[in-house]
Amino acid sequence: MPYIVVDAGHGGWDKGAHFGAYNEKDITLRVATKVSNRLRQIGFQVTQLRTDDTYIGNASARGRQIAELQPNLAISIHVNSAGGTGEYSGAEIYVPIKEDSARFEYYLREELSRLNAFREIFSRAYTGEFYERYIDPQTLRFTQTYNYTDYYGIIREAWRGGVSCDIIEMFYLDNESDLYTFLNQEDAYVEAIVVALSKAFNMNYQRELRHEVVDRPEPLKTETYYRVVCGSYSDLNEAKKVQQALVHSNYPGVWIQPVEMKR
Ligand SMILES: [Zn+2]
Repeated sequence: MPYIVVDAGHGGWDKGAHFGAYNEKDITLRVATKVSNRLRQIGFQVTQLRTDDTYIGNASARGRQIAELQPNLAISIHVNSAGGTGEYSGAEIYVPIKEDSARFEYYLREELSRLNAFREIFSRAYTGEFYERYIDPQTLRFTQTYNYTDYYGIIREAWRGGVSCDIIEMFYLDNESDLYTFLNQEDAYVEAIVVALSKAFNMNYQRELRHEVVDRPEPLKTETYYRVVCGSYSDLNEAKKVQQALVHSNYPGVWIQPVEMKR
């Protein structure tokens, strides 16, 4: 059973990026929780590092925790920001600089590309340089790896323990088009990650099993009405006289109802 560690970026006092009413820490927690639940349904073993709005340590501390847990892969979920300028859009994936398995990244790129403009898969060296990473579609391996130390603490510390950790920047929070795309289809972002992991680990992906909705009519409501009865007559003409008298007295809704009576 493949074992995945899911990290919801930031938390507690560390709000991460924010734009308008939206904080990165809330978005990452919601998505990480949904991804973890979906992975368990499909048959993955999952540890979710942060399950509520608390600060569980900086990136390096999370990386060390991942190294201790020894999963097959770790993912750290984030949303991006260009300092409120909104000038960039699309998803980015940050991968270990020496990674030798690019299957998940390949499939995730494929899935996220359907949702927004995918920017790039990057590695970042400790010196600060970014490296775009290209995956050979035939072998599903990176065309080149680099002999540097990783810049991002969570990637670096996890890799020290031999674990590959990917940072997934799902979209740019300060780009309104990106934000509304996400707000309108949050679950599609969740499924993109779940599909990519399922493909990468040869798990049988299944859509969420929803309870069958039975199209059953509303139960009939009963109400009590009070009928005013002003007499019973064996002669229909007598009944009509009473009816006419009442109608002339401004009770228009007076009708005659035959009732079978046993003698
Ligand atoms: Zn973040």
